[in-house]
Amino acid sequence: MAEIAKKQKKTLTAFPHKGTRTKVNTHAVSSPHQVLPDSTNAPFLSFAGTSKGKAPMHFADFSYDERKEKLKEKGYPAFRADQLSRHYFERHRIDEEELTDIPQAQRKDIIRSFFPPLLTKVRELVADKGKTIKSVWKLYDGHLIETVLMRYPKRTTLCISSQAGCGMACPFCATGQGGLQRNLSTAEIVEQVRLNMVMAENGALSGGPTRISNIVFMGMGEPLSNWLRVKNTLHRLIESPPNGFGLAARNITVSTVGMVPVIKKLKEEGFQVTLAVSLHAPDDELRDPLIPLNAKFKVDEVLDAAFDYYTGTKRRVSIEYALIKNMNDHEWRAELLAKKINERGRGWAHVNPIPLNPTPESVWTASTYEAQEKFVRILSDAGIATSLRDTRGSDIDGACGQLATEVKGGSPKARQARCAVDDFMETRRVQAEK
Ligand code: SAH
Repeated sequence: MAEIAKKQKKTLTAFPHKGTRTKVNTHAVSSPHQVLPDSTNAPFLSFAGTSKGKAPMHFADFSYDERKEKLKEKGYPAFRADQLSRHYFERHRIDEEELTDIPQAQRKDIIRSFFPPLLTKVRELVADKGKTIKSVWKLYDGHLIETVLMRYPKRTTLCISSQAGCGMACPFCATGQGGLQRNLSTAEIVEQVRLNMVMAENGALSGGPTRISNIVFMGMGEPLSNWLRVKNTLHRLIESPPNGFGLAARNITVSTVGMVPVIKKLKEEGFQVTLAVSLHAPDDELRDPLIPLNAKFKVDEVLDAAFDYYTGTKRRVSIEYALIKNMNDHEWRAELLAKKINERGRGWAHVNPIPLNPTPESVWTASTYEAQEKFVRILSDAGIATSLRDTRGSDIDGACGQLATEVKGGSPKARQARCAVDDFMETRRVQAEK
């Protein structure tokens, strides 16, 4: 384990939460016109003015009522809000030629004022025989974020980002290594969804045109540390058109590293979305170095908050557990996890172990197949619904991960966290040898 410290300079991936690698088919998108078929190509002007670190304001930032107000402020009748909302949230498109219910003379100004281009696709990576598409999007200020669109037999899922970078510094997660660049605005998150909706509806995924049915906040960032924008986004995703896209709340998953007070807020908002908690260890001794936020919110508090979410919403909570070889995959840890879940109640949690996505040069690797099986069996035998998370899209995570981790050397907090885990492992090794 002493070599671990030497091998700290890892090449990490951006969406490293799913399994093994396969051949990757990538291409850079040279022209934004190729990928942004609508108004997002429009130059943005007045309304789009921005202060430093804040994305230009956009129609999707606002609730239905606020949209009416904003249009009135710009001298347009309030009913334009309804028309534009239908174009945006029902048809998912704001094309000048297609805004036929709006006078030609007003269209350009409305588009410039309310629909500044927030995301420009700079790269697209295709895998799983065309059933997975990872897109890298450039924000107005040059930061990069990613989305992953995945087609399954009975659903199409989109993984979205809530922040550029991430401040949580989990040492095994690529996104955490570069630190947090900034929170995304509501519209920057909503636009990820709309642009992918257009892609799916235009037949970008193999198997023909389809509609996005599921959304997971498992891309870059910690969604609950950008709570206000994520909350607004959830309203836009769930409310029926023309207010929002009308997606089923239960098909939306918000994944958190364990921000206990905000889990409570999510419950109180009453959305009925699925909560996923990234636990990764059932004991504070290991979770302390593995998840820096554990210094604030301990395993039991996180599990209590998750259970409270279940009792408040009746939505079964997912417990995420990246299986890392010889680190957190011991049988006793599976037993402890089962005990902690069952002592709170039955049937309230679903455990999702995920073999750690090994990253080049990293000494931390996925648990062996046998250890994974054993871990799952112990939890299942304890009566807990457990399924290994599927490995869709892992190949393109690896291919594009460095993009999200271009920050040289990473954040000091992330480096510190990696060292803490190594120290912990080294202590364990020394103790075992004695
Ligand atoms: N910040 C949120 C959501 C983003 S990460 C959270 O922590 O939940 C989505 C999931 O991928 C989390 O469960 C995260 O812990 C997990 N993950 C991160 N790096 C991983 C890796 N290298 N292998 C497997 N899962 C990983």
